[in-house]
Amino acid sequence: MRMLFWLGLLVLIILALKKKMQPPKRPVATSTSTDTHPHSASSAETMVCCAHCQIYLPASEAVQRGEQMYCSKEHADLA
Ligand SMILES: [Zn+2]
Repeated sequence: MRMLFWLGLLVLIILALKKKMQPPKRPVATSTSTDTHPHSASSAETMVCCAHCQIYLPASEAVQRGEQMYCSKEHADLA
């Protein structure tokens, strides 16, 4: 029975050490400081701002016209 106690204690110590050893999870930091959007999303998807109506939308759904991004083809044509 005494052996079991020590075994349990050992497991607890190992678990505590493992927790301490784990590096804090941080998103991959972009070293470039060219990020001008304070609203840069914490999610994986990059959010862009429509140059016409200033609405935010995922970059994959945005329409690019020159250097500007738009929420729709209509707004891209309006600009
Ligand atoms: Zn728009």
